[in-house]
Amino acid sequence: MTEELIIRKIDEEKEKYIEFFRKLVQCDSINPPGNEMNVALVVEAFLKEVGIKTELFPFGNNRANLVAYLTNTFNGKNLLFNGHMDTVPPGTENDWKYPPLSATIKRNKLIFGRGTTDMKGGLAAMVITLKILKELDVHIDGNLILNAVADEEIGGEFGTGWSVENPLKNIKCNFAIIGEASALSPLPKAILVGEKGHLQIKITTNGISGHSGMPSISKNAIYMMSEIIEKLDKLDELIPTPKPPMSLEKVKSLIGVVFPSREIFERIMKEQPELEGVMLSITSYSKALTMIRGGVKENVIPDSCEGVLDVRLLPNQKSEPIVDALKKLIEEDVGYEVRDKDSTSPTKIFVELEVICDSEGSYWDEWEDSEDLKLLYSIVEDIYEKKPFYFLLPGSADARYLRNKGYCPQTVLFGPGEGRSAHAVDEHVEIQDFLRSIKVYSIFAYRFLSKN
Ligand SMILES: [Zn+2]
Repeated sequence: MTEELIIRKIDEEKEKYIEFFRKLVQCDSINPPGNEMNVALVVEAFLKEVGIKTELFPFGNNRANLVAYLTNTFNGKNLLFNGHMDTVPPGTENDWKYPPLSATIKRNKLIFGRGTTDMKGGLAAMVITLKILKELDVHIDGNLILNAVADEEIGGEFGTGWSVENPLKNIKCNFAIIGEASALSPLPKAILVGEKGHLQIKITTNGISGHSGMPSISKNAIYMMSEIIEKLDKLDELIPTPKPPMSLEKVKSLIGVVFPSREIFERIMKEQPELEGVMLSITSYSKALTMIRGGVKENVIPDSCEGVLDVRLLPNQKSEPIVDALKKLIEEDVGYEVRDKDSTSPTKIFVELEVICDSEGSYWDEWEDSEDLKLLYSIVEDIYEKKPFYFLLPGSADARYLRNKGYCPQTVLFGPGEGRSAHAVDEHVEIQDFLRSIKVYSIFAYRFLSKN
């Protein structure tokens, strides 16, 4: 009965919900610099209309985190919704069909704008869920807690990282959903139980500059970099063998559930090679040299060259052994000293390594035994009228802050939108997907918090 009321309310009030979502997109919260306060104030005002308790935690310049509580009790089960308020920059505005902060609706079907997929759609749906449950005054025993965070696009330390250590610290969390877009085209909706880690190492070769007509008395830093690049694949032999959280066979069986038969699945795999790429990306670590910069003038031997090695780690794979192995490779296989620039060593020919991004992956080990997760799965299947599948996020998100220090290992990612649209020009989300996600969050929160 209550569930029918929830669904009916969402259908009847959908125009209001779409408008609230558009308002969030229209708030500039481009990070850097962030300005998440703009979004937080709109969220706060929306929740206060129905008397939901919210706490705003300002920091920096016009930045904030927010926590809202559906009830006043913390003795029962607690369900946490997490969504980030910041977005990546839109890039060149002229490349967009519609201005990136306009939240333009097209054909009554799609909403365009920066952050529609990543992830103001998911955030709006979570905020709306609190309001619906409050307005309907549904009987629940536990608490639904919303954590709207800053800083996710830059690493999350001041957003989810801070929230877990501060306002959430003493609240026991029984289950958490992060509302990131979780459809992986060409597949339907996924529920993500893990995420990859991300390590970036800046490699700087330092040589000796000189006249390009007399290269023998200089040391060309670009050539030094090239020697390193040539040996880079040997890194795989020097690091501990990474253990994927699941085998490729297991991954195939997880994806297989969305196809009517194994034959159809095999055929689609052949037709869509990118599908295999997605599967491989979550069962293996990868590395790529993604940036290179060197040289000052056509007739000068360069004394410096910079490269960036971008490494995607499997959950549980640590970054230190990779940095150590890279150092060993450069020293022993290529033959250059690795040290800091300000060291007292007199040699001018050396290599510097600097870790510029280091976020570990995370994984919920016991997801297959969770009844709560099965409940979420069945609700997604009902609402979306299609079987979802369990998977890992090939990128990285904030889940590591909730999972890795034991705060709430039972954290999943599920939300409206398509992974591919995130960070892209003409980012958009389907309105129907957005409305369905409100239904999933509301029904799940109601059932999860009703059965104690
Ligand atoms: Zn995101």
